[in-house]
Amino acid sequence: MHPGSNTICAPVHQPGSAITIIRVSGPDSIDICDRIFIARRRGRLTREKGYTLVYGDIVNGEEVIDEVIISIYRAPHSYTGEDMVEIACHGSFYIQNTITGILASQGASPASAGEFTRRAFMNGKLDLSQAEAIADLIAADSGAAHRIAISQLKGGFSNEIAGLRSELLNLVSLLELELDFGEEDVQFADRNDLLSTVVRLRDYSGELAASFSIGNAVKRGIPTAIAGKPNVGKSTLLNGLLNEERAIVSEIPGTTRDAIEDTLVIEGVLYRFIDTAGLRHTEDIVERLGIGKTREKIALATIVILVTEAVQSAVEINREVRHFRRTMMPASASLIIVVNKADLAGEDHLETIKNEVITSDSTSLVVMSANRKDDYMVLKKALASASGLDRINETRVMITNARHYEALMKVSEATGRVVKGLETGLQSDLIAIDVRQAIHYLGEITGAITTDEILGNIFRNFCIGK
Ligand code: GDP
Repeated sequence: MHPGSNTICAPVHQPGSAITIIRVSGPDSIDICDRIFIARRRGRLTREKGYTLVYGDIVNGEEVIDEVIISIYRAPHSYTGEDMVEIACHGSFYIQNTITGILASQGASPASAGEFTRRAFMNGKLDLSQAEAIADLIAADSGAAHRIAISQLKGGFSNEIAGLRSELLNLVSLLELELDFGEEDVQFADRNDLLSTVVRLRDYSGELAASFSIGNAVKRGIPTAIAGKPNVGKSTLLNGLLNEERAIVSEIPGTTRDAIEDTLVIEGVLYRFIDTAGLRHTEDIVERLGIGKTREKIALATIVILVTEAVQSAVEINREVRHFRRTMMPASASLIIVVNKADLAGEDHLETIKNEVITSDSTSLVVMSANRKDDYMVLKKALASASGLDRINETRVMITNARHYEALMKVSEATGRVVKGLETGLQSDLIAIDVRQAIHYLGEITGAITTDEILGNIFRNFCIGK
């Protein structure tokens, strides 16, 4: 059946909450609900305008199932763009099940994962990248990931992309018109306009594609490794970081210790500690994995915390850092040198360390004691600045989605070829092929061009009820 032609329903929450919402969407949604609902003060639901709330009972024949509030939405002014009803009922599993059962018996089929959002997309309520942003918004577990999802949901880069795509469509149709004139030497498409649009697009898609590595890190957590010799305090440090965080996270019901152990949100940014198991069990990461394995693991990090001790001299620390850089350090990662156990050294010695340990733009120094709670502030600041994400805001467009990344890379390649073609006076028909390619991949991002396979992949990842 073509999506949108039938009526669907699903609860929006998991059972167990005090109140839940059951969504019904489709041409018969108001009619179906009207048949199983008795309003307390008003008449039939079918007579109500959109954006009306009605209080009453859901009934199954004579039996009252629950007291509910019903919200009416009239097409196209609803999430899906169809007629919709949302039934706010009590959250017990029994009530949810019974109401969805009665709805089904009246002709509303159970919605599949993401089906409401898929309909919203089909009805032009949002484009594909915005639909994907909704999935991200639900999954966002840090402030930074949330900010990116919100900016994408509000149109973010997809407006810009849709605009560039339609400019290109105009130009390519002029270009193709020229081809119809065959031998005659006519030019409808202004080559300068074409070049400037394509250059703009090439730069924009390249810039967006480049934001993927950081955007992806925001979404999945910035891979962070803690390295250093045995007994310098690596596990104490990690536990210290996690402990502080746990106090906050444990207030959220349902979060288990396991789930939060190796990821950690600091000032709105999610960090993912690489192979922290070895650390927590206070075994030495180097011994546990062997040097080769350790290097492989550390190579995945974009931030490395190298722990040393304040009992070492500045010269020794510099030597160790140099050695670490040569043997272990991933080229593009940021390094935080932690000089731990500051409580065991005198002021003068610490001062020398602060003055003489070599730092740079990508290398910072934190002198601290993993035993002292207050010292973690400085480490957290260093992490925030190493991540570069402390400066993220809604104005910086960023992509977090591998599908968009791949499409943007293709756009960037195709536009690169067009620019070269225009500069070298390549035949119009060959240029048109690459312009068409770019248009195609832009369309894949916003959903102007889709296949069932693409849509299936995207919406499968949604939850039921969204
Ligand atoms: P790892 O092998 O690098 O993981 O080191 P651990 O975290 O197991 O720490 C080794 C020892 O150093 C333990 O006895 C810790 O209590 C101690 N330690 C860790 N940090 C500090 C610190 O800042 N000051 C002092 N005095 N001892 C520390």
